[in-house]
Amino acid sequence: METLWAPWRMAYITGPREGGCILCEKAAGTDDPVNLVLARGRWAYVLMNLYPYNNGHLLVAPYRHCDRLADLSPDELLDLMRWLQRSETFLREELRPDGFNIGLNLGKVAGAGMEDHLHLHVVPRWSGDTNFMPVIGETKVMPEHLAATYAKLAPRFAASSREGGR
Ligand SMILES: [Zn+2]
Repeated sequence: METLWAPWRMAYITGPREGGCILCEKAAGTDDPVNLVLARGRWAYVLMNLYPYNNGHLLVAPYRHCDRLADLSPDELLDLMRWLQRSETFLREELRPDGFNIGLNLGKVAGAGMEDHLHLHVVPRWSGDTNFMPVIGETKVMPEHLAATYAKLAPRFAASSREGGR
């Protein structure tokens, strides 16, 4: 596959050299299914959270390593929001949730796990799911859900990416 536009390479080049940033590493990665990357826009990308709060928990992040909204350009902000919008649409259609929690944790004190690279959380909610959610902040890994959910969502995001993300 020929890639003509690969701004995530810039994230790799300009990202931190050591210490590592998971979001920079996933952005620069080449094996999207292994990295659970669902979509790559011009300025932002979508991936599944490896430690989900709930089934279908997605992250939408700019390629660029930055930790505050004020650092984002208008193009980056718009791409972030467009992919957030598509994430809601595709999750609604594929997983039929009753609602969503969508949010941004800025800074460790606010609960950010990867505090240096901002990212939006998209968490589908179903009536009664709090019984199964680690509301005290612990995360649980649901590998079978991850693979199955990726298989459901990936074609939707792939089609959207091919259309130029429109
Ligand atoms: Zn980063």
